Amino acid sequence: VTQSGLLLDDETRAALWAQVTERIEGYLRAVGEDGALRATPEPGLTAAAVRDALRPLTFDAPMAPADAVDLAARWLTDAQVHTPHPRYFGLFNPAPTTMGVAADALVAAFNPQLAAWSHNPFANEVERHLIRALGSRGFGYDEETTDGTFCSGGAEANHTALLCALTAAFPEFAEGGARALSGQPVFYVSGEAHHSWHKAARACGIGAAAVREAPVGPDLRMDVPALDGMIAEDRAAGRLPFLLVATAGTTNAGAIDPIAETAWFAARERLWFHVDAAWGGAAALVPELRPLLDGVFAADSITFDAHKWLSVPMGAGLFLTRHPDILSRTFDVLTAYMPGGEEGTADPYRHSLQWSRRATGMKVFLSLLVAGWDGYAAALRHQTAMGALLRARLTDDGWRVVNDTPLPLVCFVDGRAADGDAAPYLDAVAAHVVASGRAWCSTTRLGPGRMPALRACVTNYRTAPADVDALVAALNDARRAVFAG
Ligand SMILES: *Cc1c(COP(=O)(O)O)cnc(C)c1O
Repeated sequence: VTQSGLLLDDETRAALWAQVTERIEGYLRAVGEDGALRATPEPGLTAAAVRDALRPLTFDAPMAPADAVDLAARWLTDAQVHTPHPRYFGLFNPAPTTMGVAADALVAAFNPQLAAWSHNPFANEVERHLIRALGSRGFGYDEETTDGTFCSGGAEANHTALLCALTAAFPEFAEGGARALSGQPVFYVSGEAHHSWHKAARACGIGAAAVREAPVGPDLRMDVPALDGMIAEDRAAGRLPFLLVATAGTTNAGAIDPIAETAWFAARERLWFHVDAAWGGAAALVPELRPLLDGVFAADSITFDAHKWLSVPMGAGLFLTRHPDILSRTFDVLTAYMPGGEEGTADPYRHSLQWSRRATGMKVFLSLLVAGWDGYAAALRHQTAMGALLRARLTDDGWRVVNDTPLPLVCFVDGRAADGDAAPYLDAVAAHVVASGRAWCSTTRLGPGRMPALRACVTNYRTAPADVDALVAALNDARRAVFAG
């Protein structure tokens, strides 16, 4: 058995764990030490270069375990936009918590099956415990009736929400599908909502045409009064509105839709009300930021990603709901081959989209056990302060901030250059910063006018004022280089 290369012998395994932890620790130190590691890969790393390196690896001759680990660690390092780097001002990808990394290693080794409750009551009850804690402590749900499920990420949580809302609105949907309905079902998001809604609509068989994009104001928040006309028009045309989604922290610009106002509107129109708080939901854990989410307790369901601002390794999404029966109504199936659970417990496979899956909640559990609510509040508060500092430093140097959010996500253009708000200029500035390896930031397009902007988001609890200064210095140098070039 040991010869097959699957288990490896005791000595080899012991050496392997030591090597893996050494590589992990070496990486964590390298990203943290000033200048030890670029924030981005060396420019010019092409698909062809990676494929050339992979081509000789034909799996015909076995490789020594230590060589295999070295190969992976070296290439992961060299090819990576270093999302755990304090100068990664990027998409919502975290520097993972140390306890999250440890939990993922434990989970990989014990490999609990999170389809069936009975296969690991502890791992299953950990998830129920977290769902109730986050639902009540974070979002003001009643602890006793809070339900939910861990997901691969926000996209799956949104897909889950769409299926639950369809099931709640149309009793015939589960059996007959979209074709059993008397018209085209439609739901409302803002024009700045995440594009996973379009994919989910396709996957649910209601089509991307079911997604109605409400206009946003200059602040990029949903224009709620505009929903009146949209919904009346849809109803008059025989379409079937069933869901309203507010985004709490848009991916583009961190805009927070007016939650209480959308909640009220959804109640009046008898729509399922969902809050997509994939990133911004963490603000609920910081007392002074919590008012940003006022009204979220009224949501029928919530998307919240622990692998974003709670900084656990990917993937860990959450779908939360205050309707304890809706997941079962949406997903329940019965099989002869799956073991049952104890009375009063839920088998995840009858309660969610996935079947076999890993114990996703464990990395959240260990992180929260060790940091506590206060540790998280401090980390989130720190990142919010770094966002404010970045805003101030950019303004000092003549960059113009164009988004309006208290969350640490800054969209900006160059107030000093003649074409400082033009896409080619801003794209060139971002490319220059990334190529320098000093930091990572990106560009995006905002609002209905698709206004070009640079985008920098603080996603790392280790990001310090010196890192903010390094980004601004890299931007200032890029501005000079692009202007001269
Ligand atoms: C990131 C994000 C998603 C998608 O989540 P994944 O974890 O990437 O699947 C959905 N909605 C919002 C608002 C997001 O920011």
